[in-house]
This record gives sequence, structure tokens and C-alpha cells, in this order.
Amino acid sequence: MSRAYNFSPGPAALPEAVLRQAQAEMLEYRDAGASIVEISHRGPEFLEVARRTEADLRTLLSIPDDYAVIFTAGGATTVQALLPLNFAAPGQAADYVVTGHWGKTALKQVAPVIDARIAASSEGGGFRDIPSRAKWMLSADAAYVHVTANETIHGVEFRDIPSVGDVPLIADFSSSIASEPLDISRFGAIYAGAQKNLGPVGIAVLIVRRDLLQRAGQPRAPIFDYRAQLEAESMLNTPPSWNWYMLGLTVKWMLDEGGVAEFAAQNARKAALLYAAIDGSGGFYRNEVATDARSRMNVPFFLHDESLNDAFLAQAREAGLISLKGHRVLGGMRASIYNAMPEAGVQALADFMKDFQQRNG
Ligand code: PMP
Repeated sequence: MSRAYNFSPGPAALPEAVLRQAQAEMLEYRDAGASIVEISHRGPEFLEVARRTEADLRTLLSIPDDYAVIFTAGGATTVQALLPLNFAAPGQAADYVVTGHWGKTALKQVAPVIDARIAASSEGGGFRDIPSRAKWMLSADAAYVHVTANETIHGVEFRDIPSVGDVPLIADFSSSIASEPLDISRFGAIYAGAQKNLGPVGIAVLIVRRDLLQRAGQPRAPIFDYRAQLEAESMLNTPPSWNWYMLGLTVKWMLDEGGVAEFAAQNARKAALLYAAIDGSGGFYRNEVATDARSRMNVPFFLHDESLNDAFLAQAREAGLISLKGHRVLGGMRASIYNAMPEAGVQALADFMKDFQQRNG
């Protein structure tokens, strides 16, 4: 068996230790007589998994007590769609800062139900930058301000998310949660699909200040009501128990590895190594994002001669480096280097890039 270095943007590489533990517990979880996904989510085994996962996530992310944690199916997109139903009154507007594809998606999800305003957008410049805070057109009566902390496709990341005053700030951290320490108290809510830094696809996490859950919101089914979900411990209906369990293993692994401070240090080194490989290639490779907005998690890059793209991908695969093809929206290449990507993997990619350039430059 040979596992490649996997640069997939999501679903993404999981730590080998997590996969091995899941494998070991696959046929029988502890002494349950069955696997964790074959037994009731209301039984003692799964309830213990669910509660331990939340406790570990609270430790990992230093989640303050006045924030609730909700685990949901439906991915980050569903969270995006439910934000206005839960947190905006009928007729109330919300402000969206759009710095890439996923900010646009967030806006699209809410357009049918809310007056979603584009407070700032970098689309005119091809999403290569973050509009300066001075140019954001925020309204004091907005229900919330939405930002995308890290744009997974365009490779644009806020280094510091600016303050927006008294209006709650809601941030999509799908592709950068747990990648570095974060002061959650600055946000009304943050959310993330799990399939990058937190584990497998099929579950998302919403971390929300409890007072926001008291907002009346808009008419909605109970299943779309976060207050009801919290009261039911995220088990208003059958939860994605396997995904929740895998998320728990991944969070535990991050704690065992030293927590977010340790990953922040590794991620800074990994990103620096990869951008140096691109910038030092004399134009053979290029990344077009403004230096101070470059993502540490997703690094899009282009070959100067795009006719070499297929050869690059095929030879990378032979070298044990997979999933480097860029998103169809942008083309080119993209290396996603989340917490589970070891520094050796990024070094192997940088070495391969240099070697490929020597053979084709
Ligand atoms: N936001 C961001 C930043 C993403 O990267 C993604 C998915 N790649 C989404 C939202 C959508 O997530 P999901 O597929 O879980 O709905």
C-alpha cells in the first residue's frame, strides 16, 4: 500500500492515525457489539462520542462558554442558506463582503429570502485581493456582516478580519478553521464544513454566540431552527453519526499533535516553502494573489505554458503527489495544504516542481 501526498481541496486528506483508528474500530466500536454507525445515536456509546467531540473541539478552538456548538448535516452551504432564517428579521438586510467564489455562493444562498447587500467585493480584480476595510459599505441596521475567512478556490485569506462595530460578524471558516489561533469572541458566529481541517465530508460545525440564538429570525421548519437544534443537542433528527465520530477522532488528533498553535507554526512554514517555490521559479510558475492576502491553506498556481498542465499532473501523480488540478472556475493548479498535510509533503511538491521546471523550462 502506498498513500500519496494528497493535495485535495475537500474532501481532503485525513491524518493516517485517524484512518487507522477508524479502521481498528470499524467492525466493533469498543464493546458495543457493532460499529458506531450501526447503533442508536441516542445510546450511551454515541452520546459519549458526541459530547466528547464537542468538549475536545471547545478545547482545541478555545470556544468561550457563551458560544454554542451545533453539528449539522448539509455542509457549509446549508449553513449559509439558514443564516438569514435564523438571524435576520423579515425585511432586514445583511451585508456581504465577497472575496471569492464561496462568498458569492453565500450571497446566492440567501438572495431569495433577504436583502443581501454587497458591502465590498474584489470580483472586479479577479478576486486577487481583499478590499480595504475603509471601502466596506456597512449599514448599522444590518442583521449581520458575512465574510469568508479563506477562499478555497481563489486562495485569498484574511490575515486579520477587521472589526465591523456592533453588527455581528459571521465568518465562513470552512477551509481554515483550526489552522491558527482565533479569538472567537470577535464573531457573532463562525461555521465550517468539516471536510478540510476537521474531518470527513457530511457534517458542518456552527459556533454561535448564544444571544444570537434568541433572535426571532424568520418562519422556518424546526429542522432549520438552530435554537431547536441546540436544545436537541444537534439530534433533532438522526445525525450523521459516522461523520461526527470521524470529526471527533480528527479533533483529538489535532489536540494530541499540540493544538492550533503547533499547526499555525507548521502551516506558516508549509505556505512559505510553497510560495517560495512559485516565486523563485523565474516565472515558470506564478501565483497572482496579492502577497498579504495569500492563503496558507490553498495555493493556486499557474504554469507559464499551460500546454504543460497535463504532463505536470501526470508526472506529479507518478511522483506520489495527487489532486493538484485547479478548480474549473480558475483552471491551473492548486495545492491544498491543510493541517493533515505534513511538511514533508509540501517539500516533496516543491522538489517535484523544481525538477519538472528543469526538464521543461
Ligand atoms: N465555503 C467554503 C470556504 C468552501 O471551501 C466550501 C466548499 N469547498 C463551501 C463553503 C461549501 O461547502 P459544502 O460543500 O460543505 O456545502
